[in-house]
Amino acid sequence: MLIDTHCHLNFKDFKEDADMVIKRTLENDVQLINVGAEWRTSQRAIEYAEKYTSGVWAVVGLHPIHLFNSPNVLPEENYIEKLNYKKYLQLAQNKKVVAIGEVGLDYHHFDKKLGEEEILKIKKKQKEVFKEFIRLANEVKKPIAIHCWDAYNDLLEILKENLVKRRGVVHSFIGNYKTAEKFIELGFKIGLNGIVTYTESYDKLIKEIGLKNIILETDAPYLTPSPLERYSRNEPINVRYTAKKIADVLKIDIKEVEKQTTDNARKLFTL
Ligand SMILES: [Zn+2]
Repeated sequence: MLIDTHCHLNFKDFKEDADMVIKRTLENDVQLINVGAEWRTSQRAIEYAEKYTSGVWAVVGLHPIHLFNSPNVLPEENYIEKLNYKKYLQLAQNKKVVAIGEVGLDYHHFDKKLGEEEILKIKKKQKEVFKEFIRLANEVKKPIAIHCWDAYNDLLEILKENLVKRRGVVHSFIGNYKTAEKFIELGFKIGLNGIVTYTESYDKLIKEIGLKNIILETDAPYLTPSPLERYSRNEPINVRYTAKKIADVLKIDIKEVEKQTTDNARKLFTL
């Protein structure tokens, strides 16, 4: 059994057939965690989780790209939300919610025309909101699912100063081992997805991180693994391609990858 620890069947790409996709996922011995990016999709993640007795969970949070205007994201992602702590606390207390996320820092999508001062302002805002979500995670005693793009140093600084009691995962990790090691030292898991199937450049990182600290995800509908069509809609069952890639790199049986990464996910999210 595999667990897709980070997907978005709660996004509009799955508006027509999310339940069919979930059914197909469970039938193929894969379980899934739907992750919210703002209040509406967080709420929807809970709605899906509540429909199933087991195998479907939710993560709720406000993605850093929804804190500022950016021309570099998809039009539907260009949606700004002001954090309402109480509303998220209400969602976070739901039994089906296994973590807080995706929350974090995204310095990748800044408008190129922005001045230094404006960029600093947005960074400050992202850090403030992220710290609020750490407070929330600690209040509900759940781990945190972190999105981080072009901001690993600032993220590390915040995590060192603000203890997340139940730790969490750095989702869709694309840094080097020197960086990964620092998160692992803080007790965090590393979330890997289809990105590691695109090239051989992550093979070394996979070996260095080791199975004990890896959890698997798809980030569906995005990041469809190779050898599938790169820009087709991704879905949770494709998590097996990432598992297979890791098994090949580590020269072990895929069953071993399944067992250890599923075990890691169960422990982290208390599934
Ligand atoms: Zn995501």
